[in-house]
Amino acid sequence: MNQVVRYLTKSRFKLAAECPRKLYYTGKKNYLDRSLDDSFLAALAEGGYQVGELACLMHPGGVRVDELNHQVALAKTAELLQQDEVIIFEAAIAVGTLFVRVDVLRKSGTRIEIIEVKAKSYSAKKDGDFKGAKGQLKSDFLPYLQDVAFQRYVAQQALPGHQVHAFLMLVDKEQSSTVDGLNQRFKVVLEERRLRVQVTPGTTPESLGQFLLAKVPVDGQVDMILSDTLRVGPADLRPFPEAVDAFALAYTNDNPLPPVPSSACGGCQFKATSWQSAEQTKSGFHECWSQAFKWSEPDFMGSTVLDLWGFLRKTQLIDQGVLKAQQVTLEDLKFDGEEPGIDGMTRKHRQWYICQPAWPGGGEYYFDGAGYQNARNEWKFPLHCIDFETSAVAIPFASGRHPYEITAFQFSHHVVHNDGRVEHRSQWLCAKPGVDPNIDFVRALRDALCKDDGSIFRWSAHENTVLNKLREELLVSATSPTDKDALISFIESITSRSVSPKEKVHGARTMIDLCDIAEKFYFHPSTKGSNSLKKVLPALMNSSTVLRDTYSKANYGGNGVSLNFVEPIAWWQEHDGKVIDPYALLPPVFDDVSRDETDAADEGLSEELKEGGAAMAAYARLQFEDLSDARRASIENALLRYCELDTLAMVMAIQAWDHMATAAASKP
Ligand code: SF4
Repeated sequence: MNQVVRYLTKSRFKLAAECPRKLYYTGKKNYLDRSLDDSFLAALAEGGYQVGELACLMHPGGVRVDELNHQVALAKTAELLQQDEVIIFEAAIAVGTLFVRVDVLRKSGTRIEIIEVKAKSYSAKKDGDFKGAKGQLKSDFLPYLQDVAFQRYVAQQALPGHQVHAFLMLVDKEQSSTVDGLNQRFKVVLEERRLRVQVTPGTTPESLGQFLLAKVPVDGQVDMILSDTLRVGPADLRPFPEAVDAFALAYTNDNPLPPVPSSACGGCQFKATSWQSAEQTKSGFHECWSQAFKWSEPDFMGSTVLDLWGFLRKTQLIDQGVLKAQQVTLEDLKFDGEEPGIDGMTRKHRQWYICQPAWPGGGEYYFDGAGYQNARNEWKFPLHCIDFETSAVAIPFASGRHPYEITAFQFSHHVVHNDGRVEHRSQWLCAKPGVDPNIDFVRALRDALCKDDGSIFRWSAHENTVLNKLREELLVSATSPTDKDALISFIESITSRSVSPKEKVHGARTMIDLCDIAEKFYFHPSTKGSNSLKKVLPALMNSSTVLRDTYSKANYGGNGVSLNFVEPIAWWQEHDGKVIDPYALLPPVFDDVSRDETDAADEGLSEELKEGGAAMAAYARLQFEDLSDARRASIENALLRYCELDTLAMVMAIQAWDHMATAAASKP
């Protein structure tokens, strides 16, 4: 029987380049792995499948090596490479225990091009040659460059006598589509939890219009990587070839390389939230820190420096042996220890309260009632809480649109009246395949908000950013809607925008950022300093009596209260003495995909698509999959409920803070 070779593939090489210890955990069922490498939802949301297919279409005559078996794929590739001129998709190349699959390999005589295709946006003006001011490779492109460097390194050794050149093929943000309905040419089919792209018959390179992918030569950058060092251990930097040999040997023999603890441990895919019990999958992070620092289970109980929200010098502290948050000093944070002033907490206050949970007034959490009340005095009833769901599809909907332009497909809108009544006033969702929703989105939002002049609330900068992008889109739109000016004025009235590097203008009814209020006036240690609504809501629910009293009864829903929950629901429910996260009370968005997968899509998307990944994945499925009417309705229904909970969560925050401010004011 043939022994299976444990190859160092390009994805395993990339893991080792991040941290050599990861090689030991990858692919092992008994270790937790939150990585998105095989999350089809994330790839779907990012448009990775479609971009790959688009790249193939741009190389007519290419032959695909479909075979998953390594040896069969190697044999087929070797046979194809006998030809003088050939284009191969997924070419398999190996040398020793190093193995790569090349997205597009182009051979012409002795010249070989290795083309790595990525659903990552690129702008020649902004990203240039991927180098920073000091000539170093930019960190956001480094993993892609390392990937193609490894491929060139393997191919050069496997194919002596050839000149191997490296390219990245990226989504060119500077281009715009010259044809309508381009993205609808790339449908996806879900088969046994795997996605396949189906290209509309008759699609030719000519029918795709302007080429939306940039083929960027990166031999110079690859030379830099190949002549540099890679880390094999905490104090073990080796030249590229030696490091690759060490990685390959460790992986082949399944030997663990030493952990390299750094700030990256905080986001490590092998990090579980707690020390595992016997029946759970193991946490690589806990194993690493136990080995590196001789930690045992109790050491992991409190906060670590990894929990310092927004702190940029975590690796330096780790290198100095400062590991637990309680060991951090004011000097480490470069903080004077002053109490919060009239403008509320700064980031430093929040970081310090994680290290030393002793804030003015003491108690379970810190709340600046007077500061909150001052801000609240500016608010005008009725209060409008809004939340958007957006996507950024790689391949545009319509002619004139750029790749990864914002697509605003949904909003929810709650109203809080002066007498305390709460109403889910309006919502909007458009996920019809091939329909660009942006202009109708702005119209629907204007109609929802223009009935009075009450204050409008968002949570975080997202809504402001989206509306400013839609304003720009309207300004340059080739096919202006007749109400273009009215829509632009509406956007300007509720947003803030920069008009010069130093000057911002604010609309008369500019949205108020509740996240900003949370950051200044509310700190709960369980949020670890984060202001994400997904962290703040559970903290508030666990500590607010008014939320418990209001939402522990099944009385949210029905006419005049909710547009989606016909049957009343109790949002405050307990399990083992802890309040259940309200989002966990909702049925999953997809019943054919696990909740873990949906959550994973939320966590690890690229910069273009941060936050709300599950909603983006849902939108992508509604756009690109041929779904039955029933499944389509079920996904849309789930999207509406999730978005409703997003704006209800904002209402809950206001209710909890109002109650806390009243309680604070009545204290002697
Ligand atoms: S927890 Fe840290 S040291 Fe361990 S594998 Fe992850 S990044 Fe490496």
